[in-house]
Amino acid sequence: MKYAIGIDIGAAKIKGVLAGGAGKILACLEIPTGAKRKRAAILRDILKFIDCLKGEAEVRGLKLEGIGVGVPGTIKAGKLVFGGGTLKQFVGVDFKNLIQKKTGLKTALENDSAVFVSAESYFGAGKNFDRVAGVIWGSGIGGGILDKNNRPRVPARAVEIGHFIVEPDIKNEPKCGCGKRGCAENLASGKNIVRRYYARGGKMKNAGVREIYFSKEKAARKVLDDAYGYLGRAIAVFVDIINPDIIVIGGGVSNLPEPAYQKLREYSRRHLVKMPAKKLKITRSKLGNFSGALGAAMLLLAR
Ligand SMILES: [Zn+2]
Repeated sequence: MKYAIGIDIGAAKIKGVLAGGAGKILACLEIPTGAKRKRAAILRDILKFIDCLKGEAEVRGLKLEGIGVGVPGTIKAGKLVFGGGTLKQFVGVDFKNLIQKKTGLKTALENDSAVFVSAESYFGAGKNFDRVAGVIWGSGIGGGILDKNNRPRVPARAVEIGHFIVEPDIKNEPKCGCGKRGCAENLASGKNIVRRYYARGGKMKNAGVREIYFSKEKAARKVLDDAYGYLGRAIAVFVDIINPDIIVIGGGVSNLPEPAYQKLREYSRRHLVKMPAKKLKITRSKLGNFSGALGAAMLLLAR
């Protein structure tokens, strides 16, 4: 079996796995990103983090094919060229060469939603479907698509679903990291659900999306209902264009209980015509917190 390290760099957490070719996770690790820090400090942590997983492979006597890295944003030739709404301090960083030089291992870089979709397509909730779409619903919002029928095989592609405009005329909202107002991420990502809750007079201290979900407060109900509605609109456009067999949701906010999914399905269907609305399947990630990291490792492992 072939082995590789996979790293998923998110705005809230950095996750990593030591994985084998058949989607087997041998070891996993997670640290907070500390995204408000300067990029040099975060990069130092990422390199230390990789060292730990490398050490784990050495202890087990495994030869590594390399390191796969998933980051939010647009990737061109191993560089992050657009950071979207999160981790903007990494724009321009040549991750591929930097990690390759420091570790001596072959490194591949891809968008975080694309690697998430790839793992879920082959080993998770999308296993029995041909055309799999994924949405990362976390601090930011991202999307990806993989069609397993494509010949020759092509890797999963990122789709900037988070920056689809879902409320063009909205005012009184700060601009998203993409430079616009009224995109799905601006109104429905985890970070922005919390921001909008406090902007509407939310009373809980240090609330996260989960606390907001379980709260009976008016502000909490309103911002979450808005979030389902706005993300639902973005999903409807996504479905209209690519017609996927299933949509798999991952990321920090995806851990909300099933009634949140019922709402999301209901709001997505509202904006779809009859047939795609009828066949719409929206489900939670099956591989859980480490699906992105596993997908990143798969960049180095032939399927
Ligand atoms: Zn945006």
